[in-house]
Amino acid sequence: MTMQFPTRKRIALIAHDARKQDMIEWAKFNKGSLAKHDLYATGTTGTLVSRDVGLDITLLKSGPLGGDQQVGAMVAEHAIDIVIFLWDPMRSHPHEPDIHALQRIATVYNIVLACDRSTADFVISSPMMKTTYTSTIIDYEGLRKQEISSLVK
Ligand code: PGA
Repeated sequence: MTMQFPTRKRIALIAHDARKQDMIEWAKFNKGSLAKHDLYATGTTGTLVSRDVGLDITLLKSGPLGGDQQVGAMVAEHAIDIVIFLWDPMRSHPHEPDIHALQRIATVYNIVLACDRSTADFVISSPMMKTTYTSTIIDYEGLRKQEISSLVK
């Protein structure tokens, strides 16, 4: 199964508290490139980035209040192509299961997931940001059907 990323990518930005300054700096540095795409963000991250960088961003709920799950649902509905997720590796969070769920669903749907600034820099400067891109998704749905039909009579 394949999925088409449009030329204008749908990008979600999420930064844990200790990484929010990093996200603002990264977004400032890449403002020109980011402005060519549709941006979404968890509540606090998006509020800070739009205030300090001046980008148009669709705000979702704050991460701990369901924002990560909203991004995950958008990934499953093929409404997000790229997630820039600057998470904090030094602290555990009350919404740890949501964080893992988002990382998992991003892998299931083979979208682009950048979890540090270097990867995010490589992603945003890729020539593929300017073209459509066909991503191949493993047919987990078919595999699930096979599995279920072997278990249910
Ligand atoms: P926030 O959420 O942007 O609302 O702070 C980020 C997160 O902690 O997942």
